Amino acid sequence: MELIFEKSARDRQGVRLPAGDVPAAAPLPGEFLRAGPAALPELSELDVVRHFTLLSRRNVGVDTTFYPLGSCTMKYNGKAMEDAAKLFAPFHPMTALLPGGETFSQGTLEMLHQLGRQLEEITGMDAVSCQPMAGAHGEMTGIMLIAAYHKAKGHRKRYVVVPDSSRGTNPASAAMVGYEIVTIPTAPYGDMDLDAFKAALNDEVAAVMLTCPNTLGLFNPHIKEICDLAHGVGALVYYDGANLNAILGQLRPGDVGFDVVHVNLHKTFGTPHGSGGPGAGPVGVKKALIPFLPLPRILREENGRFTLLTDHPESIGRTANFFGNFGVIARAYAYILMLGREGLIEVSERAVLNANYVMSRLKDLYDLPYDQTCMHECVFSAGRQMLHDVHAIDIAKFLIDKGFHPPTVYFPMIVKEAIMIEPTETENKETLDAFIGAMREAAELAVKDPGALKRAPVTTPISRLDETKAAREQKVCIS
Ligand SMILES: *Cc1c(COP(=O)(O)O)cnc(C)c1O
Repeated sequence: MELIFEKSARDRQGVRLPAGDVPAAAPLPGEFLRAGPAALPELSELDVVRHFTLLSRRNVGVDTTFYPLGSCTMKYNGKAMEDAAKLFAPFHPMTALLPGGETFSQGTLEMLHQLGRQLEEITGMDAVSCQPMAGAHGEMTGIMLIAAYHKAKGHRKRYVVVPDSSRGTNPASAAMVGYEIVTIPTAPYGDMDLDAFKAALNDEVAAVMLTCPNTLGLFNPHIKEICDLAHGVGALVYYDGANLNAILGQLRPGDVGFDVVHVNLHKTFGTPHGSGGPGAGPVGVKKALIPFLPLPRILREENGRFTLLTDHPESIGRTANFFGNFGVIARAYAYILMLGREGLIEVSERAVLNANYVMSRLKDLYDLPYDQTCMHECVFSAGRQMLHDVHAIDIAKFLIDKGFHPPTVYFPMIVKEAIMIEPTETENKETLDAFIGAMREAAELAVKDPGALKRAPVTTPISRLDETKAAREQKVCIS
């Protein structure tokens, strides 16, 4: 497809304005003026509409396609959440932050405050800040809170412990805050090796970061023991809530002993996301960490009025502009209210049921390195297909031709040729069966006609890209 710049023709315009009939204002100072005309494409309105409409038809999203991208929770997001986000669009982000502005922003502050309370209830935490703009941002904020806590207590801490199945953002966030990383291997039963963990614990450990269920989609039955052991050496325990969809309404990390959590609102609570945004990663903490939470904090006074706490000496300060990613926050609030307690419990039940259904219907054809009941996602390996020189990437590309977004491949890194499938609760049995059919067809082709998988995809405008080159050597095309 041609780029919009290639379709440009000189002097073609969408709108022609009549000549001005008012006196010209004083010109801007020269330093603000462009030397030549703007390098913009010149097209008619129809050209522009057609260009972007055709482009949008090439887009793959949950609204068009089953999207079992493991770890990302690409569930269908109801349109009612979009309406909720739009309600707040007229609110200028500065309003509440200007002196006296709280008067005009009571409804907005109430919404932010209530979402905090709802997330406290869901995660079992004592306070929540909705400021962080993504899961990874929540991780960094959470580790900063832990560092501030240890500093205030006079603890000398050096290490953050993570299992080797953790997502790279966990050790990266801890390293950015200044900690050294200790990595614990995964035991054959699919969880962090308990003996290796015990051996790694000492009183210089600041925190242990866990994802539960972990990135293999497995629930760790030892989390309470791990929390107790960590607390025994004065370490805090961080819960990466990216997989909250699996335990929503079933288990509260705070009840087990976790001290800090982040929640990926965009994954679990109703925001369309992908390709890097948009997201929100609220952070919840236990009582002892409340003084360190980001500012401003929203407080509810006795009389029901909402005010901002903007100054607090122990706080780590601001971690994002204004109140975080507000549209995502509004969607999550609407999502929680719409589903209610029973609805949220049903989310996790169905998400887990769907993943186990897919797993049980594919495990005769694909290797399952950790063969046990899974939570909201399951991780296969294309090890058997590799005997025919077919790799996870070939299966992923074939699925595109079959009309599916591929699952996550090559993650988690501890599984060779990983294929990580997260169907989510919003898909019906017919869709799951169609996907299972395509996966079974791929496994059969791997044996009978591996070349057919190697040639895929054949239905897309471009077949296989050099993806590294496409990411590293971007071209900006301005004619
Ligand atoms: C998605 C994810 C994150 C990070 O979340 P972002 O919102 O993408 O920054 C962290 N941990 C796990 C396990 C995840 O799946």
